Amino acid sequence: MAIERTFSIIKPDATARNLTGAVNAIIEKAGLRIVAQKRILMTRAQAETFYAVHKARPFFGELVDFMTSGPVVVQVLEGEGAILKYRDVMGATDPSKAADGTIRKVHAKSIGENSVHGSDAAETAAIEIAQFFAGNEIVG
Ligand code: GDP
Repeated sequence: MAIERTFSIIKPDATARNLTGAVNAIIEKAGLRIVAQKRILMTRAQAETFYAVHKARPFFGELVDFMTSGPVVVQVLEGEGAILKYRDVMGATDPSKAADGTIRKVHAKSIGENSVHGSDAAETAAIEIAQFFAGNEIVG
């Protein structure tokens, strides 16, 4: 399988509970390498752009409010089949449906406040990484 990069966000519910290290431990244990990472406060414009695909959904406003409510940690993860692997490691969007041992099963609070984001495909991963990182900030 090819080495890929995926984009990850540790969301405000997780940073508020001081879970950055706990989430990173699960990521690294799964064999994914954190090749870029920074803690930021997302602006409303950044969150609206990032989640533009969900603009028509009833939870869009709530999602933007949540993602700008506190610090997030944006990351680039690298590894074999990293995109699908990280989706597996995160678990289902709704933590009550997530498999045992996944980040969302272990740490998420609700379907909205679900601790992490991970890209769903190669094209979106490239776009999402470029929204938050310059090439020279990613060191594999
Ligand atoms: P993901 O790819 O597993 O993150 O899920 P989606 O792309 O479907 O949704 C993006 C994000 O929107 C989720 O991770 C949640 O934070 C949020 N979200 C999805 N569904 C709901 C919902 O029903 N209510 C609320 N408040 N937020 C939601």
